[in-house]
Amino acid sequence: MSAIAGALAEVRARIDRAAAAAGRAPEAIRLVAVSKTKPASAVREAYEAGQRDFGENYAQELVEKADELADLPDLRWHFIGHLQSNKARLVAPLAALVHTVDTPSLARELAKRAARAERPRLAVLVEVNVGGEAQKHGARPDELAELLDAVDAEPGLALTGLMTMPPHDLDAARRAFEALAALRERNGGSARLPELSMGMSDDLEIAVACGATLVRVGSAIFGARS
Ligand SMILES: *Cc1c(COP(=O)(O)O)cnc(C)c1O
Repeated sequence: MSAIAGALAEVRARIDRAAAAAGRAPEAIRLVAVSKTKPASAVREAYEAGQRDFGENYAQELVEKADELADLPDLRWHFIGHLQSNKARLVAPLAALVHTVDTPSLARELAKRAARAERPRLAVLVEVNVGGEAQKHGARPDELAELLDAVDAEPGLALTGLMTMPPHDLDAARRAFEALAALRERNGGSARLPELSMGMSDDLEIAVACGATLVRVGSAIFGARS
C-alpha cells in the first residue's frame, strides 16, 4: 500500500470511529482530501485508493491540477480557500462545491460565471467567522441571515450549508463547531442547510461529534506542507 493510501485508510477509520461514538452513520460524513501545495501525482494516488473529493485553496492551482487530472471524470473538486471575485471565473466552471462564499458580491459573481460556463446550479456553502476574529475570512454571525438570503436569491447557486475555519486550540475549535451548528439551527436548520463543513487533521473527531458532514483533511493524508 502506498503511503497516501495507508494514511487515507487511517483517516477514514478515524471518521468511522468518531461517527460510531456519536451515534451517526459513517456515510453521513464526507472526507475532502485537501491537496493544496501537493502535486497532481499525489491526488492521482489518492484517487487510485478510492478517494473522490479533493479540496484546493488557490484558484490558479485548482485550474492547473484540474487540467492535469482531466482524465478522472468522477473526481470532485471543492474550493475551500478565500475567493476574490475576480477569480470566480476560474473556479465556477470546475468546482463541485465552493465552501467559502462570504459576501453577496462574491455570490453574484459566482452565479454569473457558473451561468456563463453553462453550469445550471453551482453548489455553495457560506463561510462563517464564528468567533468574529479580525484576521479571519467569513461572514460575521450577525451578517449571516442577510447573506444566506442573498445566496438564496441567486438562481444560479444552490445553497447547501455552512463552513468554518476553526481556531488551533481544540477547546476553542469545539466551541466554534458548536456555534456553527447553532447558527444553522437559527437559520433554517438542516432542511435548508444540510451540510456543515468543519474539522481538519487535528480536530476531525470533535467536528464529527458536533455534526460535521464534510471534513477537510490535508496533512494527515498528504503529509506536512512546506
Ligand atoms: C489547509 C486547509 C485544511 C486542511 O488542513 P490540515 O490541518 O492540513 O488538515 C482544511 N481547510 C482549509 C480551509 C484549509 O485551508
